[in-house]
Amino acid sequence: MRSLKYKTFPPRCPFCNQEIDPPQEFDDVLMYEFDGGQCACGASYCFDPTTRNGGAVMLQALVLACQGDWDRALSLRPDVDYYEGRIIKYSALTHRVGDPASFGTIYFIRLRPQK
Ligand SMILES: [Zn+2]
Repeated sequence: MRSLKYKTFPPRCPFCNQEIDPPQEFDDVLMYEFDGGQCACGASYCFDPTTRNGGAVMLQALVLACQGDWDRALSLRPDVDYYEGRIIKYSALTHRVGDPASFGTIYFIRLRPQK
């Protein structure tokens, strides 16, 4: 039997360190092209299975964080109005992180609390 040279982990939210649910397809696929979800801490996330969609997936996570308000999402500034995080080497098949053969990225957005 082949021994594993790497360890895999369940994906955790970069903001609160809780394990996240597998990204889900959204009901509104016109609005939300990529699978994603929301963490209990309020962070939203979207999954890029290809590594090629980065910016678009990040934007979708931002729109998700704004409850679908594109105008608001586009007006927000990184590190001022929201924070970004990501998980790399994520496999949607196993819902694990760390396998070098996995190329998925999950992008996270957490809005800064409004004053
Ligand atoms: Zn979280």
